[in-house]
Amino acid sequence: MENENANENSLGNTGNFIHTYINEDLKGELNRVHTRFPPEPNGYLHIGHAKSICLNFGLAKLYGGKCNLRFDDTNPAKEDTEFVNSIKDDIKWLGFDWEDRLFFASSYFEKMYEYAVLLIKKGKAFVCDMTAEEMKDARGTLNAPGKESPYRNRSVEENLDLFERMKNGEFKDGEKTLRAKIDMSSANINMRDPVIYRIAHAYHHATKDKWCIYPMYDFAHPVEDAIEEITHSICTMEFEDHRPLYDWVINEIDFPVKPRQIEFAKLNLSNTIMGKRFLRALVEEGKVDGWNDPRLITLSGIRRRGYTPESIRKFCDMIGVSKANSIVDTAQLEYCIREDLKDKTPVIMSVLDPIKLIITNYPENETEMLEIENHPENESLGKRQVPFTRELYIERSDFMEEPPKKFFRLSVGKEVRLKGAYFVTCTDFVKDENGVVTELHCTYDPETKSGLNFMGRKVKGTIHWVSVPNAVKTKAMLYENLTVEDENDEKGYRFNPNSLTIAENCMCEPAVKGAKPMDRFQFIRNGYFCVDSKNSTDENLVFNRIVSLKSSFKPNLK
Ligand code: ATP
Ligand code: MG
Repeated sequence: MENENANENSLGNTGNFIHTYINEDLKGELNRVHTRFPPEPNGYLHIGHAKSICLNFGLAKLYGGKCNLRFDDTNPAKEDTEFVNSIKDDIKWLGFDWEDRLFFASSYFEKMYEYAVLLIKKGKAFVCDMTAEEMKDARGTLNAPGKESPYRNRSVEENLDLFERMKNGEFKDGEKTLRAKIDMSSANINMRDPVIYRIAHAYHHATKDKWCIYPMYDFAHPVEDAIEEITHSICTMEFEDHRPLYDWVINEIDFPVKPRQIEFAKLNLSNTIMGKRFLRALVEEGKVDGWNDPRLITLSGIRRRGYTPESIRKFCDMIGVSKANSIVDTAQLEYCIREDLKDKTPVIMSVLDPIKLIITNYPENETEMLEIENHPENESLGKRQVPFTRELYIERSDFMEEPPKKFFRLSVGKEVRLKGAYFVTCTDFVKDENGVVTELHCTYDPETKSGLNFMGRKVKGTIHWVSVPNAVKTKAMLYENLTVEDENDEKGYRFNPNSLTIAENCMCEPAVKGAKPMDRFQFIRNGYFCVDSKNSTDENLVFNRIVSLKSSFKPNLK
């Protein structure tokens, strides 16, 4: 069914080059599409992985095929079950389902060993005693061929014997390797007798101490794909030059199913840190609050920040798939979450940096309940009662002692509209001994209730407010990009010292009472916020700002 609807696939962009390849294949003998998402469980997933997940699961859906989740756990040192669990959670959260097809590359170690033995028997692999250093020296360059290993012509019997002894733990790490016997003068350096097995006396999270030899990625990956009968092995551009080796492994072992490797360009995002290696360093150095710090573009980080799975999928649709590397503006991701939240999120008032406003002609001890709509356009979100009193909090930045010409908010003598309430005119202000304004005095006009009787009155500014005696004091975490570009730094960027600002006295209207982790609100003029899932409690609410309201990104709408 999905096939008929190629225009509405989860990839959004029809006719990308991967579709073209697959369509070609389906015209031939192939009659099914089977992809896989193959994370290495050595860290948490990030938004780049989301692109790969949407692509792989999206292709399966589009072509009525299947997509496996396969942990590529062939590297014992850095892998952990904590990561396995987080990866599963993140994929489910994104909205994808591997059904009963959860696999671990490590469960194929036995088969991989047998395939390596097969290559030895065919005279296509040999045990080499060269050190890593010697191998590097003999590898040649882009312009010069490599030199053959002196061990290249060992007999099949000797190779079988040595390889078995490697497996049995008779040698130290690095003492021997198993290499494919291909072509030391190949123009493609990856084809110059690459190492396919190495010795590592290391504990593996799944196979424990069973193995002390481990397959290299370039050998393991095609074998994993072939065992699972994958038809299209989608990977990122850095593997393009490895494709001949991928095909060599598939052909030499003579698998009945010959998966096709297709490369696409990685997602890069401006002003943030993407690679797992760098993310891990930030976490280990304590620069961020764990893998799910809301500033990180890990999926657990942006989820905690308040991004929805819909917004991430929409983003992956928008950026599309190509072979050309580029950097996507973070503003585009922000655009997607605003688009997703704008119609369905209740709009309420909260003051991030409060200053007191006292309405001197409003009765003391009086509370008026004002009815305000929960969304300016979406009536289905209903209305709420908002308490109005003599003392209010407003934003400090909504008052200026000496306003410039185009300042339409409060200053002495100016009138503004309080959102959903009355017009007030500032008459006076109070400063403390440091010259900081602490209090504004205003008068209100009872005739202007809910802005009804304002016809003919020129009031340009509308500001938000929260009743002092009814305010709920909360904490709001305000984020900026994690890094800023810096030409003088060798990395090209540096850590942004303003990536987190905490509004310790964020005063909210009572509507936030009882808000639960992951509940979302738009705070008028201040952005979209989400209740933090780690540090928020019923008594002490903590909000993460998902995104501010202003966008610098203009979508290219066709
Ligand atoms: P990192 O460099 O962040 O560690 P990785 O490629 O080593 O990424 P893997 O766990 O090996 O991480 O990747 C799983 C899958 O996700 C691979 O198919 C990989 O190509 C893909 N992937 C990783 N990073 C990106 C990215 N930035 N954009 C698109 N796909 C990505
Ligand atoms: Mg990796």
